[in-house]
Amino acid sequence: MISDLLKYYKVGNVKIKQKLMKDHAHYNVDTGTLELSTKYKTIKPSQVKEFLITIIHEIRHAMDAKKYGWKKFKYMYEMEIAQWQAENPKNNLDDWYKHISFEVEAEQFGQKNWKKWHSKFKKDKLF
Ligand SMILES: [Zn+2]
Repeated sequence: MISDLLKYYKVGNVKIKQKLMKDHAHYNVDTGTLELSTKYKTIKPSQVKEFLITIIHEIRHAMDAKKYGWKKFKYMYEMEIAQWQAENPKNNLDDWYKHISFEVEAEQFGQKNWKKWHSKFKKDKLF
């Protein structure tokens, strides 16, 4: 399932690491690695939507990293955070991810694409 997604979005060569974590997935900009929760093999039906959105969201980061080269992507990503924080000193600084373009685009990308994968994986009886 994950490899189908990675291949489709042409990030089949992204480094993947499985680890125990709270979220379903996370793209580590420091290492250029897509980290997946080890829990993903026992996903509950109620979590499928969130799971797919998260994976596709993180794949979008991997696509951006591939497009720019991940060191440049990391730099651009961090510059955007720094800029947002400098411009919004009164905001809750933990809110940055709702505002920077890479995160907004990745989230829209996940929201837009999860359904078609859901139907496909359901047809293949993967859920
Ligand atoms: Zn993200």
